[in-house]
Amino acid sequence: MDQCIFCKIINKEIPKEFDYESDHIVVFPDINPSADVHLLIVPKKHISGMGQLGREHGDLLIEVYEVVNKLVLENNLREDLYRVVVNGGKAQHIPHLHFHLLGGQWKKYV
Ligand code: 5GP
Ligand code: ZN
Repeated sequence: MDQCIFCKIINKEIPKEFDYESDHIVVFPDINPSADVHLLIVPKKHISGMGQLGREHGDLLIEVYEVVNKLVLENNLREDLYRVVVNGGKAQHIPHLHFHLLGGQWKKYV
């Protein structure tokens, strides 16, 4: 999607260091963190939101949660507080499906 900011980040039109990258997923820090650890797990394919998910995305969703578990370990969150948040409707500001991993001290709602 031409105007999508996350597509631009994924396509490296906007420079951004990734915490993780695979064929299907990238991870980078939220620009305006809501918690001590605030990472965005973003499928590379432009899916506008969770309303567009179907059974064909099953493998992708499993990979998302595998990556979440890896990030939880890497950021020492296993024994700490952490959450995975997906916003929809008016709570979603970027129309490209993404999962927030929030860990440690919570500062505000995403
Ligand atoms: P949403 O409200 O769509 O669930 O979350 C969008 C998130 O993307 C927000 O937490 C916001 O801070 C973050 N964000 C918006 N623009 C950028 C950007 O250009 N770079 C990064 N790293 N995060 C962004
Ligand atoms: Zn996009």
